[in-house]
Amino acid sequence: MKPVIALVGRPNVGKSTLFNRMTRSRDALVADLPGLTRDRHYGEGRMGERPFLVIDTGGFEPVAKEGIMHEMALQTRQAVAEADVVMFIVDGRQGLTPHDKTITDFLRKSGRKVMLVVNKSEGMKYTSVTAEFYELGMGDPYVISAAHGDGVLDLVNEAIDEAVTLRPAEEAEFDPADHGVKIALVGRPNVGKSTLINTLVGEQRVIAFDMPGTTRDSIEVPFEKNGKNYTLIDTAGIRRRGKVFEAIEKFSVVKTLQSISEANVVVLMLDAQLDISEQDAHIAGFILETGRALVVAVNKWDGLTSDQRDQVKNDIDRKLDFLGFAEMKFISALKGTGIPQLLKSVDTAYAAATAKLSTPRLTRALQEAIEKQEPKRKGSTRPKMRYAHQGGQNPPIIVIHGNALDGITEPYKRYLEKHFRDTFDLIGTPLRIELRSGK
Ligand code: GDP
Ligand code: GDP
Repeated sequence: MKPVIALVGRPNVGKSTLFNRMTRSRDALVADLPGLTRDRHYGEGRMGERPFLVIDTGGFEPVAKEGIMHEMALQTRQAVAEADVVMFIVDGRQGLTPHDKTITDFLRKSGRKVMLVVNKSEGMKYTSVTAEFYELGMGDPYVISAAHGDGVLDLVNEAIDEAVTLRPAEEAEFDPADHGVKIALVGRPNVGKSTLINTLVGEQRVIAFDMPGTTRDSIEVPFEKNGKNYTLIDTAGIRRRGKVFEAIEKFSVVKTLQSISEANVVVLMLDAQLDISEQDAHIAGFILETGRALVVAVNKWDGLTSDQRDQVKNDIDRKLDFLGFAEMKFISALKGTGIPQLLKSVDTAYAAATAKLSTPRLTRALQEAIEKQEPKRKGSTRPKMRYAHQGGQNPPIIVIHGNALDGITEPYKRYLEKHFRDTFDLIGTPLRIELRSGK
Protein backbone atom coordinates (compact mmCIF):
# COMPACT_ATOMS: atom_id res chain seq x y z
CA MET A 1 0.00 0.00 0.00
CA LYS A 2 1.27 3.44 -0.87
CA PRO A 3 1.94 5.86 1.95
CA VAL A 4 -0.65 8.63 2.10
CA ILE A 5 0.44 12.18 2.90
CA ALA A 6 -2.07 14.97 3.57
CA LEU A 7 -1.17 18.65 3.23
CA VAL A 8 -3.00 20.81 5.76
CA GLY A 9 -2.73 24.50 6.59
CA ARG A 10 -4.27 27.95 6.22
CA PRO A 11 -5.01 29.30 2.76
CA ASN A 12 -2.00 30.75 0.93
CA VAL A 13 0.74 29.04 2.90
CA GLY A 14 1.83 27.18 -0.25
CA LYS A 15 0.01 23.85 -0.12
CA SER A 16 -0.81 23.71 -3.82
CA THR A 17 2.69 24.78 -4.71
CA LEU A 18 4.07 21.90 -2.65
CA PHE A 19 1.45 19.51 -4.04
CA ASN A 20 2.46 20.40 -7.59
CA ARG A 21 6.11 19.88 -6.81
CA MET A 22 5.45 16.51 -5.17
CA THR A 23 3.38 15.25 -8.10
CA ARG A 24 5.16 17.02 -10.92
CA SER A 25 6.30 14.03 -12.96
CA ARG A 26 2.75 12.68 -13.17
CA ASP A 27 1.29 15.92 -14.37
CA ALA A 28 2.99 15.82 -17.72
CA LEU A 29 1.54 12.40 -18.28
CA VAL A 30 -2.03 13.44 -17.79
CA ALA A 31 -1.88 16.87 -19.32
CA ASP A 32 -2.39 15.67 -22.87
CA LEU A 33 -5.57 13.69 -22.32
CA PRO A 34 -8.33 15.72 -23.90
CA GLY A 35 -11.62 16.14 -22.12
CA LEU A 36 -10.45 14.72 -18.85
CA THR A 37 -11.61 16.37 -15.68
CA ARG A 38 -9.06 15.92 -12.97
CA ASP A 39 -9.42 16.17 -9.29
CA ARG A 40 -6.57 18.43 -8.40
CA HIS A 41 -6.63 17.40 -4.79
CA TYR A 42 -5.30 13.89 -5.12
CA GLY A 43 -2.05 13.04 -6.77
CA GLU A 44 0.58 10.38 -7.02
CA GLY A 45 4.24 11.11 -6.51
CA ARG A 46 7.36 9.03 -6.59
CA MET A 47 10.55 9.26 -4.63
CA GLY A 48 12.98 7.04 -6.49
CA GLU A 49 11.31 3.64 -6.38
CA ARG A 50 8.86 4.66 -3.69
CA PRO A 51 5.41 5.79 -4.81
CA PHE A 52 3.13 7.74 -2.50
CA LEU A 53 -0.23 9.46 -2.57
CA VAL A 54 -0.64 13.08 -1.63
CA ILE A 55 -3.85 14.90 -0.74
CA ASP A 56 -4.07 18.67 -0.95
CA THR A 57 -6.74 20.21 1.25
CA GLY A 58 -8.34 23.58 0.76
CA GLY A 59 -7.99 26.34 3.28
CA PHE A 60 -8.94 25.08 6.67
CA GLU A 61 -11.33 26.71 9.13
CA PRO A 62 -12.00 24.05 11.78
CA VAL A 63 -14.81 25.94 13.47
CA ALA A 64 -16.92 26.88 10.43
CA LYS A 65 -20.44 25.54 10.79
CA GLU A 66 -21.74 25.96 7.25
CA GLY A 67 -20.96 27.10 3.73
CA ILE A 68 -17.83 26.59 1.73
CA MET A 69 -15.49 26.79 4.72
CA HIS A 70 -17.48 24.08 6.43
CA GLU A 71 -17.26 21.92 3.32
CA MET A 72 -13.52 22.40 3.20
CA ALA A 73 -13.20 21.53 6.86
CA LEU A 74 -15.04 18.25 6.20
CA GLN A 75 -12.71 17.47 3.33
CA THR A 76 -9.74 18.20 5.52
CA ARG A 77 -11.04 15.91 8.26
CA GLN A 78 -11.49 13.13 5.75
CA ALA A 79 -7.99 13.67 4.34
CA VAL A 80 -6.43 13.64 7.80
CA ALA A 81 -8.33 10.52 8.76
CA GLU A 82 -7.08 8.70 5.70
CA ALA A 83 -3.50 9.89 5.82
CA ASP A 84 -0.53 8.13 7.37
CA VAL A 85 1.33 11.38 7.80
CA VAL A 86 0.08 14.96 7.87
CA MET A 87 2.27 17.82 6.70
CA PHE A 88 1.11 20.88 8.56
CA ILE A 89 2.26 23.84 6.48
CA VAL A 90 2.86 27.27 7.97
CA ASP A 91 4.15 30.48 6.37
CA GLY A 92 7.67 31.45 7.41
CA ARG A 93 7.30 34.96 6.04
CA GLN A 94 4.05 35.76 7.74
CA GLY A 95 4.97 34.01 10.97
CA LEU A 96 2.71 32.34 13.49
CA THR A 97 -1.01 33.24 13.42
CA PRO A 98 -3.89 32.39 15.78
CA HIS A 99 -5.33 30.30 12.99
CA ASP A 100 -2.24 28.08 13.03
CA LYS A 101 -2.89 27.40 16.72
CA THR A 102 -6.47 26.32 16.04
CA ILE A 103 -5.25 23.92 13.38
CA THR A 104 -2.62 22.58 15.78
CA ASP A 105 -5.32 21.76 18.34
CA PHE A 106 -7.34 19.95 15.73
CA LEU A 107 -4.35 17.98 14.47
CA ARG A 108 -3.28 17.01 17.96
CA LYS A 109 -6.72 15.49 18.60
CA SER A 110 -6.50 13.53 15.37
CA GLY A 111 -3.73 11.36 16.77
CA ARG A 112 -2.00 11.40 13.40
CA LYS A 113 1.72 11.74 12.87
CA VAL A 114 2.21 15.44 12.09
CA MET A 115 5.26 17.07 10.51
CA LEU A 116 5.39 20.82 11.00
CA VAL A 117 6.64 22.44 7.81
CA VAL A 118 7.71 26.08 7.59
CA ASN A 119 7.38 27.15 3.98
CA LYS A 120 8.58 30.21 2.04
CA SER A 121 11.87 30.10 3.88
CA GLU A 122 14.19 30.57 0.92
CA GLY A 123 17.10 32.81 1.86
CA MET A 124 16.24 32.72 5.56
CA LYS A 125 18.20 31.25 8.46
CA TYR A 126 16.85 28.10 10.11
CA THR A 127 16.91 29.51 13.64
CA SER A 128 15.26 32.80 12.79
CA VAL A 129 12.53 31.36 10.58
CA THR A 130 11.61 28.54 12.98
CA ALA A 131 11.92 30.21 16.39
CA GLU A 132 8.33 31.28 16.93
CA PHE A 133 6.85 28.01 15.68
CA TYR A 134 8.25 25.97 18.57
CA GLU A 135 5.41 27.46 20.55
CA LEU A 136 3.05 25.07 18.73
CA GLY A 137 4.68 22.14 20.48
CA MET A 138 4.96 20.16 17.27
CA GLY A 139 8.67 19.45 17.57
CA ASP A 140 11.45 20.58 15.28
CA PRO A 141 10.00 22.20 12.19
CA TYR A 142 11.05 21.19 8.69
CA VAL A 143 12.09 24.21 6.70
CA ILE A 144 11.36 24.33 2.99
CA SER A 145 10.70 26.50 0.02
CA ALA A 146 7.96 24.86 -2.01
CA ALA A 147 8.42 27.41 -4.76
CA HIS A 148 12.18 26.86 -5.09
CA GLY A 149 12.30 23.23 -4.02
CA ASP A 150 14.67 23.71 -1.07
CA GLY A 151 14.28 20.99 1.54
CA VAL A 152 11.40 19.25 -0.25
CA LEU A 153 13.21 16.00 -1.11
CA ASP A 154 14.34 15.46 2.49
CA LEU A 155 10.89 16.30 3.76
CA VAL A 156 9.14 13.81 1.50
CA ASN A 157 11.70 11.09 2.19
CA GLU A 158 11.19 11.50 5.91
CA ALA A 159 7.43 11.43 5.49
CA ILE A 160 7.62 8.14 3.59
CA ASP A 161 9.96 6.65 6.20
CA GLU A 162 7.52 7.67 8.92
CA ALA A 163 4.56 6.20 7.05
CA VAL A 164 6.34 2.90 6.52
CA THR A 165 7.23 2.49 10.19
CA LEU A 166 3.66 3.34 11.21
CA ARG A 167 2.06 0.73 9.00
CA PRO A 168 1.40 -2.77 10.20
CA ALA A 169 3.67 -5.34 8.61
CA GLU A 170 2.40 -6.41 5.24
CA GLU A 171 1.64 -10.00 4.45
CA ALA A 172 3.84 -12.08 2.22
CA GLU A 173 3.84 -11.08 -1.42
CA PHE A 174 0.81 -12.18 -3.33
CA ASP A 175 1.53 -14.88 -5.88
CA PRO A 176 -0.59 -14.33 -8.99
CA ALA A 177 0.08 -17.85 -10.20
CA ASP A 178 -2.08 -19.19 -7.36
CA HIS A 179 -4.84 -16.66 -7.21
CA GLY A 180 -5.34 -15.47 -10.75
CA VAL A 181 -5.94 -11.97 -11.98
CA LYS A 182 -6.36 -9.32 -9.30
CA ILE A 183 -9.46 -7.25 -9.89
CA ALA A 184 -10.27 -3.88 -8.33
CA LEU A 185 -13.95 -3.03 -8.43
CA VAL A 186 -14.42 0.72 -8.35
CA GLY A 187 -17.31 3.11 -8.73
CA ARG A 188 -19.27 5.69 -6.84
CA PRO A 189 -21.53 4.70 -3.96
CA ASN A 190 -24.61 2.64 -4.81
CA VAL A 191 -23.56 1.56 -8.28
CA GLY A 192 -23.74 -2.02 -7.05
CA LYS A 193 -20.22 -2.98 -6.00
CA SER A 194 -21.24 -4.96 -2.92
CA THR A 195 -23.98 -6.68 -4.86
CA LEU A 196 -21.52 -7.75 -7.55
CA ILE A 197 -19.01 -8.95 -4.96
CA ASN A 198 -21.72 -11.10 -3.40
CA THR A 199 -22.78 -12.44 -6.76
CA LEU A 200 -19.21 -13.29 -7.69
CA VAL A 201 -17.98 -14.60 -4.42
CA GLY A 202 -21.03 -15.88 -2.60
CA GLU A 203 -20.26 -17.64 0.60
CA GLN A 204 -16.56 -17.97 -0.22
CA ARG A 205 -16.39 -14.38 0.95
CA VAL A 206 -17.16 -15.31 4.51
CA ILE A 207 -14.28 -17.75 4.60
CA ALA A 208 -11.94 -15.10 3.25
CA PHE A 209 -12.92 -12.67 5.94
CA ASP A 210 -12.16 -15.18 8.66
CA MET A 211 -8.62 -15.55 7.46
CA PRO A 212 -5.84 -14.06 9.52
CA GLY A 213 -4.00 -11.02 8.27
CA THR A 214 -6.91 -8.62 8.06
CA THR A 215 -4.75 -5.85 9.42
CA ARG A 216 -4.25 -4.57 5.93
CA ASP A 217 -6.36 -1.83 4.49
CA SER A 218 -7.60 -3.98 1.69
CA ILE A 219 -8.56 -7.60 1.72
CA GLU A 220 -7.88 -9.93 -1.12
CA VAL A 221 -10.81 -12.23 -1.70
CA PRO A 222 -10.06 -15.18 -3.96
CA PHE A 223 -12.86 -16.78 -5.95
CA GLU A 224 -13.30 -19.19 -8.79
CA LYS A 225 -15.52 -18.83 -11.84
CA ASN A 226 -15.71 -21.12 -14.87
CA GLY A 227 -12.71 -23.06 -13.66
CA LYS A 228 -10.51 -19.97 -13.37
CA ASN A 229 -9.11 -18.20 -10.35
CA TYR A 230 -9.51 -14.51 -9.66
CA THR A 231 -8.97 -12.29 -6.66
CA LEU A 232 -11.06 -9.30 -5.75
CA ILE A 233 -9.39 -6.46 -3.92
CA ASP A 234 -12.04 -5.43 -1.48
CA THR A 235 -11.64 -2.09 0.21
CA ALA A 236 -15.31 -1.64 0.92
CA GLY A 237 -16.32 -1.58 4.52
CA ILE A 238 -12.84 -1.88 5.91
CA ARG A 239 -12.02 0.50 8.69
CA ARG A 240 -8.63 1.99 9.17
CA ARG A 241 -6.78 1.34 12.36
CA GLY A 242 -7.33 3.76 15.20
CA LYS A 243 -10.75 5.06 14.13
CA VAL A 244 -10.03 8.66 14.95
CA PHE A 245 -12.94 9.96 13.02
CA GLU A 246 -16.18 8.05 13.03
CA ALA A 247 -17.87 9.53 10.03
CA ILE A 248 -15.68 8.94 7.05
CA GLU A 249 -17.65 9.26 3.87
CA LYS A 250 -18.79 6.06 2.25
CA PHE A 251 -16.81 6.88 -0.86
CA SER A 252 -13.08 7.17 -0.31
CA VAL A 253 -10.80 8.44 -3.05
CA VAL A 254 -7.79 7.12 -1.17
CA LYS A 255 -9.18 3.59 -0.98
CA THR A 256 -10.15 3.75 -4.63
CA LEU A 257 -6.65 4.83 -5.61
CA GLN A 258 -5.04 2.18 -3.44
CA SER A 259 -7.14 -0.63 -4.87
CA ILE A 260 -6.54 0.55 -8.43
CA SER A 261 -2.80 0.50 -7.92
CA GLU A 262 -2.87 -3.00 -6.41
CA ALA A 263 -4.93 -4.47 -9.23
CA ASN A 264 -4.00 -6.13 -12.49
CA VAL A 265 -7.34 -5.13 -14.02
CA VAL A 266 -9.78 -2.47 -12.90
CA VAL A 267 -13.52 -2.90 -13.35
CA LEU A 268 -15.15 0.53 -13.43
CA MET A 269 -18.80 0.19 -12.49
CA LEU A 270 -21.38 2.65 -13.81
CA ASP A 271 -25.06 2.89 -12.95
CA ALA A 272 -27.25 2.56 -16.04
CA GLN A 273 -30.20 4.01 -14.15
CA LEU A 274 -28.44 7.32 -13.43
CA ASP A 275 -26.60 9.85 -15.61
CA ILE A 276 -22.83 9.66 -15.83
CA SER A 277 -21.57 12.05 -13.16
CA GLU A 278 -18.47 14.12 -12.49
CA GLN A 279 -17.51 11.54 -9.89
CA ASP A 280 -17.60 8.76 -12.51
CA ALA A 281 -15.35 10.85 -14.74
CA HIS A 282 -12.96 11.53 -11.86
CA ILE A 283 -12.64 7.85 -11.03
CA ALA A 284 -12.11 7.07 -14.71
CA GLY A 285 -9.38 9.71 -14.75
CA PHE A 286 -7.59 8.08 -11.84
CA ILE A 287 -7.63 4.72 -13.59
CA LEU A 288 -6.26 6.25 -16.75
CA GLU A 289 -3.49 7.94 -14.84
CA THR A 290 -2.20 4.65 -13.47
CA GLY A 291 -2.23 3.00 -16.89
CA ARG A 292 -4.14 -0.02 -15.59
CA ALA A 293 -6.07 -2.43 -17.78
CA LEU A 294 -9.77 -1.63 -17.64
CA VAL A 295 -13.21 -3.07 -18.23
CA VAL A 296 -16.31 -0.90 -17.94
CA ALA A 297 -19.26 -2.64 -16.32
CA VAL A 298 -22.56 -0.87 -16.85
CA ASN A 299 -24.71 -2.20 -14.04
CA LYS A 300 -28.48 -2.25 -13.40
CA TRP A 301 -29.13 -3.11 -17.04
CA ASP A 302 -32.22 -5.01 -15.94
CA GLY A 303 -35.57 -3.30 -16.34
CA LEU A 304 -34.48 -0.71 -18.93
CA THR A 305 -36.35 -0.21 -22.20
CA SER A 306 -34.34 -0.39 -25.39
CA ASP A 307 -34.68 3.40 -25.82
CA GLN A 308 -33.26 3.91 -22.39
CA ARG A 309 -30.42 1.54 -23.17
CA ASP A 310 -29.51 3.53 -26.28
CA GLN A 311 -29.54 6.69 -24.22
CA VAL A 312 -27.18 5.22 -21.64
CA LYS A 313 -24.76 4.12 -24.34
CA ASN A 314 -24.79 7.61 -25.89
CA ASP A 315 -24.26 9.25 -22.52
CA ILE A 316 -21.22 7.08 -21.81
CA ASP A 317 -19.71 7.54 -25.27
CA ARG A 318 -20.03 11.28 -24.93
CA LYS A 319 -18.82 11.78 -21.37
CA LEU A 320 -16.22 9.03 -21.09
CA ASP A 321 -14.92 9.10 -24.65
CA PHE A 322 -11.34 8.80 -23.40
CA LEU A 323 -12.04 5.23 -22.29
CA GLY A 324 -12.42 4.05 -25.87
CA PHE A 325 -9.72 1.40 -25.41
CA ALA A 326 -11.78 -0.51 -22.84
CA GLU A 327 -14.48 -3.10 -23.44
CA MET A 328 -17.88 -2.24 -22.09
CA LYS A 329 -20.17 -4.91 -20.64
CA PHE A 330 -23.79 -4.51 -19.66
CA ILE A 331 -24.65 -6.44 -16.55
CA SER A 332 -27.08 -6.90 -13.72
CA ALA A 333 -25.22 -7.62 -10.52
CA LEU A 334 -28.55 -8.28 -8.86
CA LYS A 335 -29.84 -10.81 -11.39
CA GLY A 336 -26.40 -12.17 -12.20
CA THR A 337 -26.61 -11.52 -15.93
CA GLY A 338 -23.60 -10.62 -18.05
CA ILE A 339 -21.10 -11.86 -15.46
CA PRO A 340 -19.33 -14.53 -17.57
CA GLN A 341 -18.89 -11.96 -20.35
CA LEU A 342 -17.51 -9.46 -17.86
CA LEU A 343 -14.90 -11.93 -16.62
CA LYS A 344 -13.99 -12.80 -20.18
CA SER A 345 -13.24 -9.12 -20.79
CA VAL A 346 -11.14 -9.09 -17.63
CA ASP A 347 -9.08 -11.98 -19.04
CA THR A 348 -8.72 -10.22 -22.38
CA ALA A 349 -7.61 -6.96 -20.77
CA TYR A 350 -5.09 -8.75 -18.57
CA ALA A 351 -3.65 -10.63 -21.55
CA ALA A 352 -3.33 -7.38 -23.49
CA ALA A 353 -1.71 -5.50 -20.62
CA THR A 354 0.92 -8.19 -20.12
CA ALA A 355 1.42 -9.13 -23.79
CA LYS A 356 4.98 -9.77 -24.87
CA LEU A 357 5.70 -8.17 -28.22
CA SER A 358 8.93 -9.12 -29.90
CA THR A 359 11.07 -6.59 -31.73
CA PRO A 360 10.71 -8.35 -35.15
CA ARG A 361 6.90 -8.46 -34.87
CA LEU A 362 6.71 -4.85 -33.72
CA THR A 363 9.06 -3.70 -36.44
CA ARG A 364 7.05 -5.56 -39.08
CA ALA A 365 3.85 -3.94 -37.81
CA LEU A 366 5.58 -0.56 -37.89
CA GLN A 367 6.66 -1.08 -41.51
CA GLU A 368 3.09 -2.05 -42.46
CA ALA A 369 1.76 1.10 -40.85
CA ILE A 370 4.27 3.24 -42.73
CA GLU A 371 3.46 1.53 -46.02
CA LYS A 372 -0.21 2.31 -45.59
CA GLN A 373 0.40 5.89 -44.58
CA GLU A 374 3.68 7.75 -44.39
CA PRO A 375 4.23 10.48 -41.81
CA LYS A 376 4.16 13.99 -43.28
CA ARG A 377 7.25 16.06 -43.85
CA LYS A 378 8.14 18.67 -41.33
CA GLY A 379 9.85 21.44 -43.23
CA SER A 380 12.29 19.76 -45.57
CA THR A 381 12.76 16.55 -43.55
CA ARG A 382 10.51 13.57 -43.27
CA PRO A 383 10.57 11.67 -39.98
CA LYS A 384 12.23 8.29 -40.51
CA MET A 385 11.04 5.44 -38.30
CA ARG A 386 13.39 2.45 -38.35
CA TYR A 387 12.33 -0.14 -35.81
CA ALA A 388 10.25 -0.65 -32.69
CA HIS A 389 10.76 -2.54 -29.46
CA GLN A 390 8.73 -3.08 -26.34
CA GLY A 391 9.80 -0.74 -23.56
CA GLY A 392 7.49 -2.03 -20.86
CA GLN A 393 4.39 -3.96 -19.90
CA ASN A 394 1.24 -3.11 -18.03
CA PRO A 395 0.59 -0.89 -19.85
CA PRO A 396 2.50 -1.91 -22.95
CA ILE A 397 4.96 0.72 -24.09
CA ILE A 398 6.11 0.63 -27.69
CA VAL A 399 9.33 2.51 -28.34
CA ILE A 400 9.91 3.59 -31.90
CA HIS A 401 13.46 4.40 -32.98
CA GLY A 402 14.45 6.54 -35.92
CA ASN A 403 15.49 10.01 -36.97
CA ALA A 404 13.77 13.38 -36.89
CA LEU A 405 10.89 11.87 -34.94
CA ASP A 406 9.96 15.18 -33.36
CA GLY A 407 8.24 15.78 -36.69
CA ILE A 408 5.68 13.04 -35.93
CA THR A 409 2.31 14.69 -35.34
CA GLU A 410 -0.19 13.74 -32.62
CA PRO A 411 -2.75 12.45 -35.15
CA TYR A 412 -0.07 10.25 -36.72
CA LYS A 413 0.89 8.94 -33.29
CA ARG A 414 -2.74 8.02 -32.72
CA TYR A 415 -2.82 6.34 -36.11
CA LEU A 416 0.21 4.23 -35.10
CA GLU A 417 -1.37 3.39 -31.78
CA LYS A 418 -4.51 2.15 -33.49
CA HIS A 419 -2.47 0.12 -35.95
CA PHE A 420 -0.52 -1.62 -33.15
CA ARG A 421 -3.72 -2.16 -31.20
CA ASP A 422 -5.43 -3.83 -34.15
CA THR A 423 -2.39 -5.89 -35.13
CA PHE A 424 -1.77 -7.32 -31.67
CA ASP A 425 -5.37 -7.35 -30.36
CA LEU A 426 -4.52 -5.03 -27.50
CA ILE A 427 -8.03 -4.60 -26.11
CA GLY A 428 -8.67 -3.18 -22.68
CA THR A 429 -5.28 -1.69 -21.92
CA PRO A 430 -3.85 1.75 -22.46
CA LEU A 431 -0.98 1.71 -24.92
CA ARG A 432 1.90 4.14 -24.87
CA ILE A 433 3.98 5.06 -27.86
CA GLU A 434 7.38 6.62 -27.26
CA LEU A 435 9.51 8.13 -29.99
CA ARG A 436 13.28 8.09 -29.78
CA SER A 437 15.37 9.90 -32.32
CA GLY A 438 18.90 8.70 -33.02
CA LYS A 439 20.31 12.18 -33.08
P1 GDP B 1 -2.30 27.33 -0.74
O1 GDP B 1 -3.49 28.23 -0.68
O2 GDP B 1 -1.85 26.93 0.63
O3 GDP B 1 -2.48 26.15 -1.65
O4 GDP B 1 -1.08 28.22 -1.30
P2 GDP B 1 -0.48 28.34 -2.77
O5 GDP B 1 0.34 27.15 -3.12
O6 GDP B 1 -1.57 28.72 -3.71
O7 GDP B 1 0.53 29.55 -2.56
C1 GDP B 1 0.11 30.82 -2.09
C2 GDP B 1 1.13 31.86 -2.54
O8 GDP B 1 2.39 31.63 -1.91
C3 GDP B 1 1.40 31.84 -4.03
O9 GDP B 1 1.52 33.17 -4.49
C4 GDP B 1 2.72 31.10 -4.13
O10 GDP B 1 3.44 31.49 -5.27
C5 GDP B 1 3.42 31.53 -2.87
N1 GDP B 1 4.41 30.54 -2.42
C6 GDP B 1 4.25 29.19 -2.32
N2 GDP B 1 5.38 28.62 -1.89
C7 GDP B 1 6.29 29.61 -1.73
C8 GDP B 1 7.67 29.63 -1.33
O11 GDP B 1 8.30 28.61 -1.04
N3 GDP B 1 8.26 30.84 -1.25
C9 GDP B 1 7.60 32.01 -1.57
N4 GDP B 1 8.26 33.14 -1.46
N5 GDP B 1 6.32 32.01 -1.97
C10 GDP B 1 5.67 30.83 -2.06
P1 GDP C 1 -22.30 -0.16 -3.62
O1 GDP C 1 -22.48 1.05 -2.76
O2 GDP C 1 -21.60 0.19 -4.89
O3 GDP C 1 -21.66 -1.31 -2.91
O4 GDP C 1 -23.78 -0.60 -4.08
P2 GDP C 1 -24.71 -1.77 -3.54
O5 GDP C 1 -24.22 -3.10 -3.99
O6 GDP C 1 -24.90 -1.59 -2.08
O7 GDP C 1 -26.05 -1.49 -4.33
C1 GDP C 1 -26.79 -0.29 -4.18
C2 GDP C 1 -28.26 -0.53 -4.53
O8 GDP C 1 -28.37 -0.87 -5.92
C3 GDP C 1 -28.87 -1.69 -3.76
O9 GDP C 1 -30.19 -1.33 -3.42
C4 GDP C 1 -28.86 -2.83 -4.76
O10 GDP C 1 -29.90 -3.75 -4.54
C5 GDP C 1 -29.09 -2.11 -6.06
N1 GDP C 1 -28.52 -2.86 -7.19
C6 GDP C 1 -27.28 -3.38 -7.27
N2 GDP C 1 -27.12 -4.02 -8.46
C7 GDP C 1 -28.27 -3.89 -9.14
C8 GDP C 1 -28.72 -4.34 -10.43
O11 GDP C 1 -28.01 -5.01 -11.18
N3 GDP C 1 -29.99 -3.99 -10.79
C9 GDP C 1 -30.80 -3.25 -9.98
N4 GDP C 1 -32.01 -2.97 -10.43
N5 GDP C 1 -30.42 -2.83 -8.77
C10 GDP C 1 -29.17 -3.14 -8.33
